[in-house]
Amino acid sequence: MYRKSQEYLMNEYKISASALELHQRTMEAVEPLFREYENIREYNQFKVLKAFQEERISDYHFTNTTGYGYGDIGRDTLDLVYARIFKAEKALVRPHFVSGTHAISSVLYGILRPGDTLLAITGRPYDTILGVIGIDQTEEDGNIGSLKDFGISYEEIELRNNQIDIDAVLKTLRADQKVKMLHIQRSKGYASRNSFTIGEIEEAIRAIRVEFPDVIIFVDNCYGEFIEDREPVEAGADIVAGSLIKNAGGGISPTGGYIAGRGDLVDLSSYRLTVPGLGGETGSTFGVMRSFFQGLFMAPQVSIEALKTAIYAAKIMEQAGFEVHPKAEVKRTDIVQAITFRDKDKLIDFVKGIQYGAPVDSNASCEPWDMPGYKDQVIMAAGAFIQGASIELSCDAPIREPYTAYLQGGLSFDHGKIGILIAISRIL
Ligand SMILES: *Cc1c(COP(=O)(O)O)cnc(C)c1O
Repeated sequence: MYRKSQEYLMNEYKISASALELHQRTMEAVEPLFREYENIREYNQFKVLKAFQEERISDYHFTNTTGYGYGDIGRDTLDLVYARIFKAEKALVRPHFVSGTHAISSVLYGILRPGDTLLAITGRPYDTILGVIGIDQTEEDGNIGSLKDFGISYEEIELRNNQIDIDAVLKTLRADQKVKMLHIQRSKGYASRNSFTIGEIEEAIRAIRVEFPDVIIFVDNCYGEFIEDREPVEAGADIVAGSLIKNAGGGISPTGGYIAGRGDLVDLSSYRLTVPGLGGETGSTFGVMRSFFQGLFMAPQVSIEALKTAIYAAKIMEQAGFEVHPKAEVKRTDIVQAITFRDKDKLIDFVKGIQYGAPVDSNASCEPWDMPGYKDQVIMAAGAFIQGASIELSCDAPIREPYTAYLQGGLSFDHGKIGILIAISRIL
């Protein structure tokens, strides 16, 4: 590290000499690992640039429509840019998706019908999707309009040795003719499993397609965009969805989500976002289009900065004696880094440290709280420009054994480094 930076960190941030020494060793180990991802970043930047040029993006696409938003040329052209980048027939990129969960649920509600079965093949889906499907829904919850309430069944295949159990998937497909859609989640999210690379997803899809060419394959792409040089549609998925306050928004999009894939399926999903007949042709964009375009343009760069932060965190925490998942050397497909503390106080101190290193609300001391929908208390560090944006350096942890924190984001690796150094200094 630059000598002036070192002095600065010691004097202004009270980073210990031992933390700086760990930092030095960490950088030596991770810098060679960064090369591969810098190549991916470069390639993805070229891919994004070309899509902008092919759609002849101009000033007049940064529209500001109101009311119905008919003919919003910025909105409609951004869909085309996304479709090119994700190698999809069609895309739907909207500020009207309130989150990734909303985009994902539009796909599920839009395509599935009463009597159909949804089959999850990468184990239990991300927390917020459980309520949509109706997993764990009780009598007491009443009829809230979950997929289950609409007569859509759900089945789940557990992972075997941390891999998709293709034999079990095929067996279920043979036994249940009603399976219309397979659900694959690329990122492990906040589960203890592995994340699935595009190569692994491709292998599973190939094997399934031999016997079941028509089953619809959906991939939850949250946290995965621009971490590899291909996206799931290129691996044979029919439709994908994700959030714009994660990778694809480049840290600039203020809200929103996207869907990309087969044209007929994207249309069906759009009927759920708005209504049948209107679909993606309505919805004014009240001035967010420039930030969507610019965020997408920045996304390959910002996503890899967040990834470097994750790899750095893996290495420095491992060197400090903590368990990390995945390890720094493992090939990545998403930006989430799990760190296990096995000590409640260390976990809380670390998460607080991430908050103290934030550009926003650095003076706030985050505390564990009873978050709606969670059984255990949760502590969250998120000093973000955009509320809840986890492409910005953030860290969350349920307060339960084995005391694992999930760290993700970082708009710049320089900020990622300092955030982690502040946090680790508190617990060394
Ligand atoms: C974040 C995430 C979601 C939900 O996205 P929100 O924008 O938080 O609603 C869904 N699936 C995975 C794997 C995620 O990481």
